[in-house]
Amino acid sequence: MATNSKKAPRVCSFCDRSEHDTDYMVSGLNGNICDLCIEQAYQITQEMRRGEAKELALSIDDLPKPVDIKKFLDDYVIGQDDAKRFLSVSVYNHYKRLLQKDRKDDVEIEKSNIIMVGSTGTGKTLLARTIARLLRVPFTIVDATVLTEAGYVGEDIESILSRLLQVANYNVAEAERGIVFIDEIDKIARKGDNPSITRDVSGEGVQQGLLKLLEGSVVNVPPQGGRKHPDQKMIAVNTKDILFICGGAFDGIEKRIAQRLNTHVVGYSAVRNAATIDRNNLMQYIAPQDLRSYGLIPEIIGRMPVLTYLNPLDRTALRAILTEPKNSIIKQYIKLFEMDHVKLSFQDDVLEYIVDKAIEFKLGARGLRSIVETIMMDAMFDAPTEHPDSLVVTLEYARAQLEKANLARLQTA
Ligand code: ADP
Repeated sequence: MATNSKKAPRVCSFCDRSEHDTDYMVSGLNGNICDLCIEQAYQITQEMRRGEAKELALSIDDLPKPVDIKKFLDDYVIGQDDAKRFLSVSVYNHYKRLLQKDRKDDVEIEKSNIIMVGSTGTGKTLLARTIARLLRVPFTIVDATVLTEAGYVGEDIESILSRLLQVANYNVAEAERGIVFIDEIDKIARKGDNPSITRDVSGEGVQQGLLKLLEGSVVNVPPQGGRKHPDQKMIAVNTKDILFICGGAFDGIEKRIAQRLNTHVVGYSAVRNAATIDRNNLMQYIAPQDLRSYGLIPEIIGRMPVLTYLNPLDRTALRAILTEPKNSIIKQYIKLFEMDHVKLSFQDDVLEYIVDKAIEFKLGARGLRSIVETIMMDAMFDAPTEHPDSLVVTLEYARAQLEKANLARLQTA
């Protein structure tokens, strides 16, 4: 005991502080480090890492070019060339803006938020998810349907930024350069033409809140998201450099586009143009005023200068979706069986049949998976125990499996 008390106090090898002057001291083989130096060293490593990340992400030569981004999207998403081009350019420009900020140039490039319009199941979310794999900035997808005006049941607008902060590991500077995909933006359209009669909790109020984020302002964000809590310490996030990509189905907007196209057809050149209008795909003519007549406020529309559309998926597209993407539905099932050492294959007419059924039941791309799942269910149940070497799905088998199943169930999928 006596010898212990006489032992010389340990001293920090970095700052010479005695262990009596620190809260704790960590000893290594040939030295000690005090709590204060540990903290400082941690901060230095964090800053260096951030610096490295910045360099990595922001060297223009390193950045994926729009053509590269589109090529990457092509691997996973069928068709939708226009939307892919718009997205690729916008993301590339977003990087450029971040690069420019570091150099403090005179000509400030303003951000161009994007809005993608297209029927449900045409690949909006898929595009967003795919682009996220490629990005070197924090990225998050949020659903506009859960957003409500502050004080009502649902999530406050700021919760969008809480997600981004979480993705960025609460590194505010990183979050402030991120990209947010807001899905189902059409669900916060103003309902009806006169908003003053009843309160439109999930409509115009939310749009006003969203406007603040889109146009760039400092927002106090509850770190854990959800409702603001009196005890929660807020984090200030500047949204000036956050790129917003919005997506929505805007059901029925074709009618408004048609109306506009009809009423604007005046004069010789207009008549000539009218003849070339493709009535089967009116979405390609979408213009900002259509979004306005659908119920988005002009200020919001003005803050999303890039407007693009997704085509409805035709037969050829649906057939391609089954087999062509890198992780296509059919490839996924082949993989599932491969793990049980079963070589699975589909006859060509089965694939045509699956597409026919998806069209017949108006299930779109989303239904393809449920149809394949229904066809393969029995085989997936038996194969792991029966261990066949191979399994060929024929048209008769597929038809029998699907007819046996409750088709009505698929229709609500
Ligand atoms: P949206 O967001 O437009 O409603 P999603 O992107 O969620 O539609 O698409 C639903 C599913 O349909 C996707 O997970 C994907 O499997 C498939 N899908 C839809 N469109 C495409 C496409 N263009 N290429 C490949 N798969 C697609």
